[in-house]
Amino acid sequence: MPEKQFRLEIVTPTKVVFNDFVVSFTAPGTLGSFQVLYNHAPLLSSIGIGEVKLVDKKGQTARYATSGGFVEVRENKAMILAETAERSDEIDVARAEAARDRALKRLQERKSDTDVLRARAALARALNRLRIAGS
Ligand code: ATP
Repeated sequence: MPEKQFRLEIVTPTKVVFNDFVVSFTAPGTLGSFQVLYNHAPLLSSIGIGEVKLVDKKGQTARYATSGGFVEVRENKAMILAETAERSDEIDVARAEAARDRALKRLQERKSDTDVLRARAALARALNRLRIAGS
């Protein structure tokens, strides 16, 4: 195996999304996006709604939409425990558009029982998916 690779696992509550060697990855840390390379110092960080981008052992880039979770890096093993993670080409665009429109409608109508924070979070997840699916 070529040098300067390390193992990355991306897991959600329902499946293992990725489990292989990578050259690098970036994650949407809640205090800002960060990159992890071979021999990174031990790290534990929360992540928010955003993009996980990795360069795999063949040098190919893959991008995932995530809605938050945690990243742990230790001794050239990285784990992303994500609430959700979809690879860019697996994102259902029509579903994300419907989720976006539902959230926008809720925010525009603002009934007394509207959970504004929840609607804003749903909107942010949908817009994130659409951005990652479309670029
Ligand atoms: P929706 O209202 O469409 O369910 P959501 O943002 O509330 O959107 P989540 O709770 O974030 O959905 O995710 C629930 C599950 O559905 C997760 O497994 C997630 O990966 C998947 N998922 C949600 N939206 C999409 C999408 N547009 N394309 C592919 N998978 C999706």
